[in-house]
Amino acid sequence: MRRRTLWRSLIGLVLLLASNLPAGAASVANGITTPAAGDALRGVVTVSAVAQAADFAKWQLDLLPAGDADQAIFLAVGETVAPTASPLVNLDSARYADGPYTLRLRVVRSDGNYDEHFSPITIGNTAPAPVAATTRARLVSNRAAALGLATRTAAGQPILYLTIDDGPSPTYTPQIVELLERYDAKATFFVIGQHVRRAPAALRPVAEAGHVIANHTLSHRSLVGRSREAFAEEVQGAEELVRSAVGDLLPASFSFAYLRPPGGGVDANTGPFAAALGYQVVGWDIDPKDWRRPGAAAISARVIQDAFPGAIVLLHDGGGGSQQTVDALETILEELSSQGYVFRALR
Ligand SMILES: [Zn+2]
Repeated sequence: MRRRTLWRSLIGLVLLLASNLPAGAASVANGITTPAAGDALRGVVTVSAVAQAADFAKWQLDLLPAGDADQAIFLAVGETVAPTASPLVNLDSARYADGPYTLRLRVVRSDGNYDEHFSPITIGNTAPAPVAATTRARLVSNRAAALGLATRTAAGQPILYLTIDDGPSPTYTPQIVELLERYDAKATFFVIGQHVRRAPAALRPVAEAGHVIANHTLSHRSLVGRSREAFAEEVQGAEELVRSAVGDLLPASFSFAYLRPPGGGVDANTGPFAAALGYQVVGWDIDPKDWRRPGAAAISARVIQDAFPGAIVLLHDGGGGSQQTVDALETILEELSSQGYVFRALR
């Protein structure tokens, strides 16, 4: 079997997975859309293709029990370029035992290399019927690939992108940096300008360790509905405070590349306004809601259970950050390292 994988920012094929969802309930983007990981799927699930790259040759869809590629169950294969939202396969959950699975889409290009896209699902024939899926549908895969980032290393190890929001915090940020160091992990810190102003020294270890510093605005007020001028003030105000805190530690080539809007709130202007300032807007795939302080065990379990190659994980060192996040991060790094994951910054 060919093992060579080339990664590109252009996704070969986009899947829409609909589980008795009202039409249009699941959003379609450069990835696989499913109900939230952990939700129980039952009934007939339609998987549809909506786009292919020009060098597309063939696609194959497999179901991996517990994510184990050695037990891959073949679902469907095709060589035709499917029209928009054309069904590729109807997956009947009754044919499979309840439990966690990963949907693997392999897109083979005309040169014989292939890309793989993974989406975790759970089959729950005996579980209660899922509630209205409209609010549950979410993007679970290929957010990283859409940003031009690898989901695996050249050696095939899955990559997890840890992002740490709302800092810096004099209490938690240095602890997180120390933990990351221990696991040879790199992360991305989406800092708030006003927090940098309050605790500039807390940002120094982040820059010294070579983590990526990214923009989470000056004030953490929503960017939705803001004018172009107000948007630019939020973004550039944060930039100035970061540069005054750690500018001497940043490489000469440094420029801000990633913006995360507060609360993830975006409108039609967010992308264009951000792009005009040199930014890509970054969301997340896995949100354990650590700021609600559900307990370190609950935070780490959510991330570990939902992890998949290329997943972007949202954690907090400032704002609602707490010791629970620090404790959970140690478990996450320990467990996912043992599963072969490496931890990279967005860059
Ligand atoms: Zn935030």
